[in-house]
Amino acid sequence: MNRILIVEDETHLAEGLRFNLEAEGYGVRVVDNGEEALALLPAGEAPFDLVVLDIMLPGIDGFSVVTELRRREQFVPVLILTARGRPEEVLRGFECGADDYLSKPFELAILLARIRGLLRRREWLARAAAPEPAAPPEVYRFADVIIDFTTLEIRARGEKHQLTLMEANLLRYLVQHEGRAVSRKAMIEDVWGLREDTDTRPIDNFIVRLRRYIEREPSRPRYLRTVRGVGYRFVAQPED
Ligand code: CA
Repeated sequence: MNRILIVEDETHLAEGLRFNLEAEGYGVRVVDNGEEALALLPAGEAPFDLVVLDIMLPGIDGFSVVTELRRREQFVPVLILTARGRPEEVLRGFECGADDYLSKPFELAILLARIRGLLRRREWLARAAAPEPAAPPEVYRFADVIIDFTTLEIRARGEKHQLTLMEANLLRYLVQHEGRAVSRKAMIEDVWGLREDTDTRPIDNFIVRLRRYIEREPSRPRYLRTVRGVGYRFVAQPED
């Protein structure tokens, strides 16, 4: 769940925003002044995914809040709300380090679209920044299993099986991300090259087949593990 901090001193507006954002599935916290907002946003990993920031606030104003956030290297996305969209406020907001703006009064649908846009871009950036682990070698061994990704052959406990190309690609992907939970969405996008809203159930059938090759007891997998609600995780050296 994405968490949004609303910094707004007009109680009616703040509570209306809270209501609508919570209805969209966001976690919402409201504060009515900039000092409190800064106290909630130290440097480093932000406890919020986005800040909706009013400019005219009691105490320090929104410009000062966003300036201070960026000074302390807190790069949480900030959407500023400006009164009547005065151009000088908009320009100053961007100069201070805001990511987007909306002028009051605003259409709720537009605000929601702007929020989704900022959150999406943040996710893309995070994905681009995460280092991809190195591909496994062409011949990969673990436990009593040898996989040859060039011939698509897998040997386990003296038995040899021929993998299909997609079985091999999926297995290579899981091995590449050894130890990490891999979502069905990631597999569909990265292995099959399909969009995330594609039916992901075929993946489960692939896993069933791979387990038959790899696991001693396919019904009690030790290497190709299920991660409930997410997908699967390959573990080369299980501790149990
Ligand atoms: Ca205000």
